[in-house]
Amino acid sequence: ATQEKEEAPHAVGRRVVLFPLPFQGHLSPMLQLAELLRARGLPVTVLHTDFNAPDPTRHPELAFVPIHEALPTSATSPDADIVAQLLALNSGCEAPFREALASLLRREDVACAVVDGQWYAALGAASALGVPVLALRTDSAATFGSLLAFPRLRDAGYVPIKVAEERRDELVPELEPLRVRDLIRIDGSDVDALCGFISRVADAARASASGVVLNSFDAIEAPELARIEKELSCPAFAVGPLHRMCPGPAPAEHGLHAPDRGCLAWLDAHPARSVLYVSLGSVARVDRGVFEEMAWGLAGSGVPFLWVVRPGSVRGGGADEPPNGLDEEARSRGKVVAWAPQLEVLAHEAVGAFWTHCGWNSTLESVCAGVPMLAQPCFADQTVNARYVTHRWGVGLEVGDVIDRVRVAERVRMVMLGEEGDRAREKVRDLKLQADQCVAASLAVDNLVRYVLSL
Ligand code: UDP
Repeated sequence: ATQEKEEAPHAVGRRVVLFPLPFQGHLSPMLQLAELLRARGLPVTVLHTDFNAPDPTRHPELAFVPIHEALPTSATSPDADIVAQLLALNSGCEAPFREALASLLRREDVACAVVDGQWYAALGAASALGVPVLALRTDSAATFGSLLAFPRLRDAGYVPIKVAEERRDELVPELEPLRVRDLIRIDGSDVDALCGFISRVADAARASASGVVLNSFDAIEAPELARIEKELSCPAFAVGPLHRMCPGPAPAEHGLHAPDRGCLAWLDAHPARSVLYVSLGSVARVDRGVFEEMAWGLAGSGVPFLWVVRPGSVRGGGADEPPNGLDEEARSRGKVVAWAPQLEVLAHEAVGAFWTHCGWNSTLESVCAGVPMLAQPCFADQTVNARYVTHRWGVGLEVGDVIDRVRVAERVRMVMLGEEGDRAREKVRDLKLQADQCVAASLAVDNLVRYVLSL
């Protein structure tokens, strides 16, 4: 291993400029990549928005430069339509990003920029300034592949899903095991706006990116990664699982919210594999009715649970109040927190399964901790990830389309105590071992650093 490390490329001098999208699920992998590149000897500057700005004191070896954007409220409000928000962020940040990058170019030798793949405007802007630019995809290779295939899917009538309603359960030929219903969608957003956004993202990757960096690894997505390289005719570096590769501060410290660490002591008081961890990530919101069914289902399951209920995550309010009528026994069996130190929770031996929205970071974190999942995808790429969890890797079960207390209780018991849960646990442990091997070898990172130095 020592010899491998000596042979790994170690860079000198040339700076890499990173530009993360300002949301939790995007900031963490970008900052993890930043630490990884810095540890290989590349000086790193992180250009960032004032909105959801990362905390520079947590990354003393990285340089941080705010771009000082001016954004409309449609770009920053938690109630904003997600597609409108992404479009507004792109148009509002394009000029300030270009100016910040141009100003850096006057002072520094910049090897390349790595921008979040959703920043189609920044991809174009960097390329127009003559800076080689890589797109960091913080979703899975399967999801990115499905975005690249979108125009063909639209021509074939698979999307938008409203048009293809009666074909919901059909397998999509070039994207199996995905069905029509698993394709990326954002309820409530204008379908044309979503399709327009996806084309801009795909077109910018095709036109401007010298490569793609993905938070994934060969053992779980080799065919999907190969398809992306073929489709874009540029290299794809699967440098994940980034939260495990990263040598910097504990990944939890990339967080925008302060975790409630009291839940770790609460877990300490529980036997191995006895607790269900429940979290729907940093963005998803549920209706009050769904929230209540989740609570009643958890109560009815008889299983101890640690539940992240983010303030504001229940539409119609009342996230802080447990549903009326839950009895004392159920309340005392559960612990509710506003934000958890998720990586530590998943690594805790008391945790037996993870009821997740299948955000890509949460999915990878669960796989790497060897924890089986109960999948409740809410929107965007979560349906794609959930399908891979349940049908490609077999590391989890579905909660089901309708969140209903009887079904929830049954599924919770199944994943925690049933044979289905045992099978998923066995498979996820296998994937965890493969992830461990990938982390130990870190070949893709070496390849990425070599490529950056060759640009
Ligand atoms: N997370 C956390 N504590 C919580 C909930 C989430 O630290 O209570 C972290 C989680 O570890 C993951 C990220 O927030 O790294 C959520 O990203 P993901 O891609 O799973 O979902 P998103 O929030 O983007 O929907």
